[in-house]
Amino acid sequence: MSDRTEPRPSATVCLTFDFDAISLWIGPFAARSPSMISRGEFGAVGCERILRLLDRRQIPATFFVTGHTAETYPDLTRAIVAAGHEIGHHGYLHENPLSLETPEREREVLLRGLAALESVAGVRPLGYRSPSWDNSPWTVDLLIEQGFRYESSLMGDDFTPYWCRTGDQIQEDGSYRFGPLVDLVEMPVSWILDDFPHFEYLRVRATGANMPGLSAPSKVEEIWRDEFTFMRRDVPGGVFTLTMHPQVIGRGHRLLMLERLVDWMQAQDGVAFSTLGAAAHAFRAAHPMRQ
Ligand SMILES: [Zn+2]
Repeated sequence: MSDRTEPRPSATVCLTFDFDAISLWIGPFAARSPSMISRGEFGAVGCERILRLLDRRQIPATFFVTGHTAETYPDLTRAIVAAGHEIGHHGYLHENPLSLETPEREREVLLRGLAALESVAGVRPLGYRSPSWDNSPWTVDLLIEQGFRYESSLMGDDFTPYWCRTGDQIQEDGSYRFGPLVDLVEMPVSWILDDFPHFEYLRVRATGANMPGLSAPSKVEEIWRDEFTFMRRDVPGGVFTLTMHPQVIGRGHRLLMLERLVDWMQAQDGVAFSTLGAAAHAFRAAHPMRQ
């Protein structure tokens, strides 16, 4: 993260890559078929392509890496760090936090992921993205307990980071009760700005998951460009966070789309590419928390 004082860009773009690889398939999808597992294996191929693209464009990015992926692909994980990109926490075996059921079990998984990233790549991540974007009621408390500075799994805004809360109360016969703000920045996400539902063809018997995917990149390009154009017009200083997966965006025709999109953004005035951690840091500096 840079502490240099530079003029604030009128738009910040954060390219984020969830490097789930095989963990996604053998974890939540319970795959044991070598064919299914090989779909995750392709993530390593995609990741190398993405690293080359980022290097050519001189763009810093954030990779949320599961502990299992770090241990399965240690050289690639270290290459991400060596290239100057940020690594974030993404569970160990892509565990959906809600499915872990207790804070104790969720803490164990957090620690297991931290240990893997530390031993493989020597990093202690400041950011967390929950697998499947499904925080439990105690995720935020656990992240603060473990010293995280931001998380990126919620959708309460689109281009404006905000402070997380704990202790929200759900009332079915009255208003929703918002809990107090806490010292954790949310870098919001959206399924619209995620490559997975647009592109990934998925039928998993074990979970009943069924997604058509296989969208033409031109359709996704239109959605992502218009989201960005709207942000530039209506949300000055906004943060545009794209969530992608090496095993999804790493296919040739999709990577060509990403290259076009990045070139189009880079050609515009006032657009800066940043890691998600640096963007969260900038938000902290500009928006002191008020309870
Ligand atoms: Zn994931």
